[in-house]
Amino acid sequence: MTPDQIGVLLLLCVVNYPFVLLVEYAIRAYGIKRVYAIDVTPEQLRRERRNAMHTTPIHPGVIAIAMLAGYLKIGPETIVSVLVTFAITFVWTEIYHYLLHRAMHLRWFHFTHKEHHRSRITNAWTSISFSMWEEFLFAIGVVGFLGALSQWFALSLYGIVAYYLVYFSTNTVGHANIEYNKPGYSYTWFGRMFTTSAYHAMHHARYINNYGLLTPFMDRLFGTEWADTVQVQERAAQGRPLTNVNERLLEKL
Ligand SMILES: [Zn+2]
Ligand SMILES: [Zn+2]
Repeated sequence: MTPDQIGVLLLLCVVNYPFVLLVEYAIRAYGIKRVYAIDVTPEQLRRERRNAMHTTPIHPGVIAIAMLAGYLKIGPETIVSVLVTFAITFVWTEIYHYLLHRAMHLRWFHFTHKEHHRSRITNAWTSISFSMWEEFLFAIGVVGFLGALSQWFALSLYGIVAYYLVYFSTNTVGHANIEYNKPGYSYTWFGRMFTTSAYHAMHHARYINNYGLLTPFMDRLFGTEWADTVQVQERAAQGRPLTNVNERLLEKL
């Protein structure tokens, strides 16, 4: 591995912490609206910060091991290879994360995901509060697939790192229990293409459905999207957060 490659992987080990602190600062400084008007307890924050210490280096660690073992083959870094690798990683991760997440909600496999769901109301720290099992299984699936693919054509490490930067930052916002978009955003083309913080806040509050990561397409394909997702987003955007985890905004739910 070159010094540059080691450098970007070390960056990935720690970059999630400034993301979390930045989101916390922005919420305080700008008074960003909330999805659920329920405070998290100091005990929950302490537990999540403890978990965060051992989970964040797992993804870059698995990438480094796969590279050193010669399984993940990295080729020349060009704009095209960065973009192609980023796109492949993005699409695969949406599919794999959804399937893994659904599996982790099965009774026999739930021990892997239980720790993350101890947070019924989320905050930025929840985005890095997992069991080692969960983070490891996620990393293995992503790097395992990319490694298999790299047997045919070499991938770009910067493309993979760029994906992780997008994933870490959006996942932090996704767990922040905030809505910074204006009312009506959820009905726009962009609003329907990508998930917001409300999407995942509902998953934690209600425990099922809305399993998707950055897009809702897998949930739509398998019929697991909460039907009142748009209504919850709109309520939050209007500054009228939900006050109870059992609250539903459509009668039939
Ligand atoms: Zn879950
Ligand atoms: Zn979560």
